[in-house]
Amino acid sequence: MRHHKLALCEECYLEWFPEQTKRAIERYRMFGPREKILVAVSGGKDSLSLWDVLLRLGYRADGLYIHLGIDGKGYSDRSLNYVEKFAARFWGASFKVVDVKALYGKSITELAREKLRGRKICSLCGLVKRHEMNRLAYEGGYDAVATGHNLDDEAATLLGNALRWQAGYLARQAPVLPSTHPKLARKVKPFCRLYERETAAYAILRGIEYIYDECPFAIGATSIFYKEILNQLEVHSPGTKLQFYLGFLRAREEGLFSKAMEGLELGECEKCGQPTTAPKLCAFCRLWES
Ligand code: SF4
Repeated sequence: MRHHKLALCEECYLEWFPEQTKRAIERYRMFGPREKILVAVSGGKDSLSLWDVLLRLGYRADGLYIHLGIDGKGYSDRSLNYVEKFAARFWGASFKVVDVKALYGKSITELAREKLRGRKICSLCGLVKRHEMNRLAYEGGYDAVATGHNLDDEAATLLGNALRWQAGYLARQAPVLPSTHPKLARKVKPFCRLYERETAAYAILRGIEYIYDECPFAIGATSIFYKEILNQLEVHSPGTKLQFYLGFLRAREEGLFSKAMEGLELGECEKCGQPTTAPKLCAFCRLWES
């Protein structure tokens, strides 16, 4: 790990990695040892490694797999298969599966075909995932929803938001988003300071099998392009991504974007009851009604 000027053997790496995760959890006050955590698992290396690390650290962590019905080469079914394998092989860990098509009548692929109207499929998919994560967390009495976003994800998002100076998005990009409504779950990203290569190394060393393929809809995504740019910077100057992200978090803590958070009042959606800034229906219900 050139950015840390550190080289570790397998045994030490498997100690180091959970320790770094624990430090981030404590540093940003993500959750405490008695709280119930819902881990959003996709079948990829980051979310399965996160679930594994949280269980190794002794947290009460259950999984949630959202079956989106992405059918390119059976992507969603294959992803679920890795989640099931992980749960059975490693911990007998408990997890729930939410099937979007069974619940709402259409898969993400089908929904996208009908409702895109200039919107990107990932923005529809993100909306559905956020809604379902929040719903399941509230119904299951979970204290926080944990996602496997790593440093590469966060740095790429930050770059995208900074290029357009989207103050609202910058204000809401954080390792922990507190609950600002009784029905809104706290969101946490325990891997936000760990490089993607580090989560991959952890998964491989732990023998976690995960889906290698990207979602077919991720091909050509701008976020992937931003990641490539950041990777080039990292080659020239190891540690760039980490400094970029940590410098942003410091500026954020010092109140650089606090004005952008003002005036965000949350009400409840008239249909599903989930928190929303919209006057009547939340964006999720508007999507299905339109
Ligand atoms: Fe959904 Fe886009 Fe991610 Fe695929 S790449 S799972 S469509 S957000």
